[in-house]
Amino acid sequence: MKNSINIIILGENASDGRCEYCGKVDELRPYGKDGAKICYDCGIKPENKAETERNIEKFLHGDNDQN
Ligand SMILES: [Zn+2]
Repeated sequence: MKNSINIIILGENASDGRCEYCGKVDELRPYGKDGAKICYDCGIKPENKAETERNIEKFLHGDNDQN
């Protein structure tokens, strides 16, 4: 089981803005639900982490699996 996620490494996708989860202005990444832009803190929260990792995987593999 993976314990680490790669959103730190993927800094090139980051942009500053207001987190769609917590509202904090921070460096955001589009790994929230439905591509929501979220901050790192939200991305690693236990309740968000699975979604974050899934979206990272999608991004990395170019998987456009939308139902
Ligand atoms: Zn946040």
